[in-house]
Amino acid sequence: MLTDLDAVRPEWHSEARCSGRSELMFGPIGEQPVARRTRENRAKALCDICPVSDPCREYALANRIHDGVWGGLGVAQRPGSRLRRNRRDRAALPTSSGSWADPR
Ligand code: SF4
Repeated sequence: MLTDLDAVRPEWHSEARCSGRSELMFGPIGEQPVARRTRENRAKALCDICPVSDPCREYALANRIHDGVWGGLGVAQRPGSRLRRNRRDRAALPTSSGSWADPR
């Protein structure tokens, strides 16, 4: 029996190594940075052995998905992510010496 979810799920998802592991791929609201890094590293290890890593990454980038680990890329590694913007903005703040850091 097909469900609504089956209708929107990409075909490659049937081979996903993360099936049933959404708690590993998506962190809880308010997840602390150290916990996020630890969880994302474990998630990325799963992506490393996943046969559909390339289409998964392309899907996330094409659809501008900004949550979770997709195709071995964490939140901060995808273009346009809020975490990436926050890091860039923080880097642009003056340092303790009063000089401005390079935001790149
Ligand atoms: S590449 Fe990673 S996120 Fe994508 S389907 Fe495979 S295990 Fe899941």
